Amino acid sequence: MHSRSKYFFVLISIVFCLNVNYARGQENNDIQPIKPAAGIWLKGDLHVHSRHSTESSNNSILKIINFSKSVKMDYLCITDHDNHVDGDVAHHTWADPEFKSDSLLLLYGAEWTTTRGHGNVFSAKPYNHQNLFDVRDQRDVNIGKVKNSLGVHLSANHPSGKDNFGFSYDLVKSIEIWNSAVWPKNANAIMIWDDMLSSGRMITGRGGSDTHHGTPTASEKPSANTYQAEFNYVGTPTTWVFAKERSLKAIIDALDYGKVSVSSNPFAPRVEFYADTKENGKFEMMMGDNRISTGKPVKFRVQLIGNTLFDTNYTVTVIKNGKKINSYQVSGKVPAVEFTDTPDVKVRTYYRVTVEGTNTAYPQVPKSVALSENMVGLSNPIYFNFDPKF
Ligand SMILES: [Zn+2]
Ligand SMILES: [Zn+2]
Repeated sequence: MHSRSKYFFVLISIVFCLNVNYARGQENNDIQPIKPAAGIWLKGDLHVHSRHSTESSNNSILKIINFSKSVKMDYLCITDHDNHVDGDVAHHTWADPEFKSDSLLLLYGAEWTTTRGHGNVFSAKPYNHQNLFDVRDQRDVNIGKVKNSLGVHLSANHPSGKDNFGFSYDLVKSIEIWNSAVWPKNANAIMIWDDMLSSGRMITGRGGSDTHHGTPTASEKPSANTYQAEFNYVGTPTTWVFAKERSLKAIIDALDYGKVSVSSNPFAPRVEFYADTKENGKFEMMMGDNRISTGKPVKFRVQLIGNTLFDTNYTVTVIKNGKKINSYQVSGKVPAVEFTDTPDVKVRTYYRVTVEGTNTAYPQVPKSVALSENMVGLSNPIYFNFDPKF
């Protein structure tokens, strides 16, 4: 190498190192956790099949509800296959005398099960699901009109592989980025999510166990699929929403606006992600929020709340516009990291994080933890310069 170009190379290397250092975070074991005002974290499962899906076994609604309560779930959406009842969900799942609870918030919904793939519908109140079922093979523009008239939240299910969501993503407000306890098969779903986000779509990432099979009671006959209940059941994974209040409407709002993170199970720590754009230490932004970039550095905070494992190092990976920019090791009572980065003034930027490490045990679904491997949880993005009217 020519001496001048060698000098240039060294200089470039130094500049590069400085940039990396600039993005490096601070680990802080004594960090005071951020508590966002005016809201409540609620956990639940958004993809569950009961006996009203014909291929399910030993999974009555009462059994699902009692199990969900036993693992301290706050909400649930039972999403039976609508094609198994010719679209008449209202007279099957919702009309089941067991479809009620004094403590668990039960969303109205179904799995829209079509030739072009599957989506989940979520609603705070009963809606005419039959209308959506009846237009399933029509042009997306017509489907969009019907969906909007119903005022429901449509979500893309298991977006890669069999029965992938083969419709326009402009129909949905969320996407199932973690389907069932098996983490590794979701890699393509994450890729699709990053493509949608990078193209300017603020689509919420959510989880769903897609469980079909319960543990038989003494009087029930086991099925060939009964073994699955030990591997995958309600809560694998768990979707956390930051809701304004404890209500069905507030859960849907949180899903609409990306106030959501996903954890491997109800006992795994919750991933929280905040940003302080004003350099006043107030962290006024959280997941799902969108601001105009001022060109000034933004301080971000990732924190793990709940049953974190003592003496465990978690790896927090930061993804900016679909690309990994850094990762940090965190541990302690409230594992947390702060880092600084400057979103571009002119173009869109989003940041999201994943958390990997040893998973917290889930004794009620004991074999799920091995299937989730090292994935503990994922955040939704914090957005800059996205068009809210897109
Ligand atoms: Zn499905
Ligand atoms: Zn399903």
